[in-house]
Amino acid sequence: MEVTIIAETTGDALHPVTAQLVGAACSMGGAPTVICPGGIGTSEASTISGVTKVISAEGECFGTFDSGAWADALSPLCEGVVMTSSSAHGREVLAQIAAIRNIPIIQDATGLENGIRVTRPIYSGKAIETSVVSPPCAITVRQNAFESPGSDGNAGISTVNNSSNIGVAVKEALAKASERLDVAEADIIISGGRGMGDPSNFSHLYEIADIVGAAVGASRAAVDTWDEIPHGMQVGQTGKTVNPSLYIAVGISGAIQHLAGMRSSKYIVAINKDADAPIFGVADYGIVSTWEDALPPLKEEFAKL
Ligand SMILES: Cc1cc2nc3c(=O)[nH]c(=O)nc-3n(C[C@H](O)[C@H](O)[C@H](O)COP(=O)(O)OP(=O)(O)OC[C@H]3O[C@@H](n4cnc5c(N)ncnc54)[C@H](O)[C@@H]3O)c2cc1C
Repeated sequence: MEVTIIAETTGDALHPVTAQLVGAACSMGGAPTVICPGGIGTSEASTISGVTKVISAEGECFGTFDSGAWADALSPLCEGVVMTSSSAHGREVLAQIAAIRNIPIIQDATGLENGIRVTRPIYSGKAIETSVVSPPCAITVRQNAFESPGSDGNAGISTVNNSSNIGVAVKEALAKASERLDVAEADIIISGGRGMGDPSNFSHLYEIADIVGAAVGASRAAVDTWDEIPHGMQVGQTGKTVNPSLYIAVGISGAIQHLAGMRSSKYIVAINKDADAPIFGVADYGIVSTWEDALPPLKEEFAKL
């Protein structure tokens, strides 16, 4: 089965989710071709195990992000099942490619099987939907839902110059107000909620984040209550959906809207002084304690690792 993956890039390299997309394609028996917009990351893409072909899509339109122009330029290169990450860019481009090609699209898949059976969380993660589609179709895939294959591939690279007119281009994205790791990209996240009491107390979370290389996230109550906590940190239904290996929730009650954005994390650790807080219902490890008592020894232990 032919699968076309549109690579996700970060700066001038491939984003790790690109390899996960290859893993996802292989899990349903696909033979993936990876298209690298703007020619970014082609050599790296060719080494991902399972990749059959890499296309370096070059053209002026790839200098800035305009989903319409990208979709116009990339659409003719797509065959079979077309896949992107379910990042903001990935969803936007793939929705337009699906419209141009008049094919169905399923967003935010977390499971794929031969067939093609696609599973994804719906209703804020309260239910899992299973759909069956056949190629040609389009599927966006949630980050960290699939394992990355190895890097012993050696796929051939071809170049296509296929620019298109830019309508609206994003010239600069200033959403990242800080140089810190974004929650959407992190493999470890430590998030604080209203239970942190004061925004200055997030410094304790940053200290731990610096030790373990984590991103710091927040509940909506925290970002709504405190101007110092930017909305870009919000995890949940109306914030970012994250899927890290480790999610540490500190002073977060675990409202359904928060769980919607993080419940598929591999391991969840909750620190909350209320033993009945709903967050413990999804946690793998729970610490019933105030963060004031729990964080210092946790930090000490992390520092020893
Ligand atoms: C349409 C809609 C969309 C929403 N989208 C989102 C979303 O995307 N993300 C999101 O997070 N929320 C979202 N919400 C809000 C959500 O319903 C909750 O209000 C919010 O998640 C609560 O945040 P919290 O857990 O930080 O605060 P609280 O509910 O106030 O919980 C604070 C917790 O901290 C604990 N605590 C207090 N002091 C301490 C201490 N010293 N040490 C340890 N624990 C302590 C308390 O026991 C409590 O469990 C949405 C709501 C609606 C209606």
